[in-house]
Amino acid sequence: MKVLTIPVTPFMQNCRVIACESTGKAAIVDPGGDADKIIAAVKEYNLDVDLVLLTHGHLDHVGVSEELAKQFNVDIVGPHIDDTFWLEGLPMQAQMFGFAPHKPFFPQRWLNEGDIVELGALSLQVRHCPGHTPGHVVFYEPASATVLVGDVLFKGSVGRTDFPKGDASQLKHAIETKLFTLDDETRVLSGHGEDTTIGYEKRNNPFMSGRFG
Ligand SMILES: [Zn+2]
Ligand SMILES: [Zn+2]
Repeated sequence: MKVLTIPVTPFMQNCRVIACESTGKAAIVDPGGDADKIIAAVKEYNLDVDLVLLTHGHLDHVGVSEELAKQFNVDIVGPHIDDTFWLEGLPMQAQMFGFAPHKPFFPQRWLNEGDIVELGALSLQVRHCPGHTPGHVVFYEPASATVLVGDVLFKGSVGRTDFPKGDASQLKHAIETKLFTLDDETRVLSGHGEDTTIGYEKRNNPFMSGRFG
């Protein structure tokens, strides 16, 4: 699996373009903004965009989803339906985060725990990881041992849980049961900041070791 990382928005959200190397089919994951930068990357690598994939409904992850779905004539897939209120609340999020006004939208397909998203020869496994938002999902690609975690887990940190319907114990449980059960070598691609691995976070993440409860 090829991965391009395109930091977007003032929040430096890591939009990722992931692609099947045998077919060139690509998914744009969490396009929060800066559509022109994302389109330029897709063109540079001559990729065939098949999907827009969303981990959760926060504006810095979804801001140009509709624009790109229209541009490439593809569906928006994810997150889990429990993030409906965040997508309905996009106008409020735009005010809250200081972004340009944004209308609500909904994906063509919601995702559930255990779903598979096909991308060329790749199969992305969907894991539902609520806590940062109730409908947050992550995408695990076994052949490259890579997991795209959005705002669930960061290098040395975890997602905020002080938003409406956030839940710290739910988040911790999701990380323990849906992420820390993956092999230590698994590459973790987070929505903000550096990449990490499952093993590194198991050993070093202070939010998961009990040091911060
Ligand atoms: Zn978020
Ligand atoms: Zn974020």
